Formats: sequence, C-alpha cells, structure tokens
Amino acid sequence: MDNDFSEKYIAFLLHNLPAAKPAAGRSEVVCKCKYCADSRDPRHGHMYISIPNTESDPSFHYCQKCHTGGIVDSRKLIEWGIYDPEIASVLGTINKAAAAMGKTIGYDRVVYDFMNYAYDRESAQLKAKYINDRLGLNLTIDEMLQEKVVFNLSEALYTNRINTYTRHANIIKQISDNFVGFLSFDNNFVNFRKCTNNPVYQSIDKRYINYNIHDKKDNTEKFYVMPGMHDLSVPTRIPVHVAEGPFDILSIKYNLRKKANGIYAAISGSAYKGLLIHLINTLKMYYIEVHVYPDNDEHGDDYVMNDIKTFLKPYMIPMYVHRNIYPGQKDFGVSPDKIKEVII
Ligand SMILES: [Zn+2]
Repeated sequence: MDNDFSEKYIAFLLHNLPAAKPAAGRSEVVCKCKYCADSRDPRHGHMYISIPNTESDPSFHYCQKCHTGGIVDSRKLIEWGIYDPEIASVLGTINKAAAAMGKTIGYDRVVYDFMNYAYDRESAQLKAKYINDRLGLNLTIDEMLQEKVVFNLSEALYTNRINTYTRHANIIKQISDNFVGFLSFDNNFVNFRKCTNNPVYQSIDKRYINYNIHDKKDNTEKFYVMPGMHDLSVPTRIPVHVAEGPFDILSIKYNLRKKANGIYAAISGSAYKGLLIHLINTLKMYYIEVHVYPDNDEHGDDYVMNDIKTFLKPYMIPMYVHRNIYPGQKDFGVSPDKIKEVII
C-alpha cells in the first residue's frame, strides 16, 4: 500500500464530509451521518469511518445514532456523492486483500435470493387476519406473500435451506409462533411484529424485533420496499411513499393511495435519508416526488423533515409531508376510520 494513503484518505474525508474531524488518534474520522438526520448540533456528527493501517485493513463506517454500518468502497463513495477514482481504486485493492483473509465476511452488499411460501396455512391465516383487522384490509395470504410478509420464520429458513441460525433455536420457535414479519429490500433482515399475547423470552419481549438471516453486517439496505413495476416511459415523476414501519406503508398503499403507481417503502428502524440516498445515488432515480408519512414523534419531527428537504433540494425533487392528525393516533398503521390525513 502507498504509505501515504492513510493521511491522503483522512485529508480526503475531512475535505468532503460535513463536520468531519479526526478521532481516536487519527485512526478514525467522525462526521455527520449520510444515512440519518444525525444530531441537531451542526458541528457534531455520529458517523465513524475507520482509517486503514495496513494493506488488508478495510475502511469501516458506522453511525452511533442510526446504527447504519458497512465497508467503504467505490459504491459507497458514489452513494455519499464523494467519488474519487484514486481513493476508490486503493480501497478496492485493500478490500480484495481483506476478503482473501476473511476479514470482510458479512460485509458484502448482496441481495439474497428468497423464496416466500406459507406451508402452515392455518397459522398464516391467523396472522393475516391480525394484519387485516389492524388495517381494515382484506388481503389474502398470497397477496401478503407478494408484499414480502414472512408468516413463519422457521418455515422461511427451512424453505430457503438456511441451516445456520443467528439466534437460539428456542427463540426462533417463539418468533415463528408469535410474530409476523416483513422482509427487507436485500432479503436479509426481517422486521417482526408481535401478534399474540403469549409470554415470550425477555430478549424478544418487544413489539418489534429484527432477525438477521445471514448475519449480514452491512445494513445499508435493510429498509422494506414493496415489490412493484414502474413504467419509466411515462413522463411524470414517480411518487415515492415512505413511512416509518411496514404496517404504516401497507395502510397507505391500500387504504389511502388505493394501489396507485409508485414506490412504497418503510424505513423499518433505519432512517429516511438512507432509503432516499439509495434511490437517488445508487439507483439514480432523480425523476421522483417524495411523500413522507412520519410518526408524530421525534423520528418524524421538523428537524428530521427539514434535513430530508435539504438533502433533496439540489436534485430539485419535491417533497410532501403527510401526517395523521386523527386524535390519539401517532402514525398511519391503522384502519382508514382512524386516519385524518393532512399534507404539509
Ligand atoms: Zn446515522
């Protein structure tokens, strides 16, 4: 490795990333996160980027605020809007050497194959009823399978011949019996919601839990996107509807927008900007209009919305904020009689 690379890389990051500062004795650079709104203090960021020391030392990135992490490579530089051919080429050589030594296991940014099927129709029917009742819908099991609903974790792992579990077998059994899930864009993360009143182990005794199917370490594509077709020959902006969780976006797609053409997605515990950066900088979709349906809490407050607006501005992409102002409701994950939608 070029001996000067570490210093060159630090200088490059400091020059190109907002609020960037060296940290941990110049073994890291900390800056404003590219995937979330980060903190309100304009001088203080939470995204840490490690500086390679040897020629097989990858540069990792991790945000302490939204927990988005991965390895820096040419695609990440493009995604962050700071591509530099020389830096990208050295990082590529380092990553190759690191991969040969097994240092990058789990960091490959792959989209996995996934076969979605429900064998136990009776239990799937109960979970489908839970979703339909909550949202005032009447979707069939097969329609939900199309929307990447995972009815039973054990069955899903079996169907896809995944024999290595990332949690204890007893936990997997309880998740299978008591939770219904939604599969991420990269077919690796399942965002599960508890749908029974049965007691479960403390570590999963929450409303939402995540299951990491392949023990993937790069989580920049863990958002949930409903599969769909988009006609690019029509000269109108493609509407992108983004909500906090899968229940919100299901209700928005079926109850509010009546399945109108568009992209429907939920950030599922990541951040809005991470999803938009993926659409704009990775998929190069500029001719879109963004509709955000935030929760009425700190994840969807004006600071976060303004951060997205600022991010979209140079692309001249219009953005609309939709809120559910029905008394006592904080989001859109409910039936239409409990939604009073205002657009800001
Ligand atoms: Zn972040």
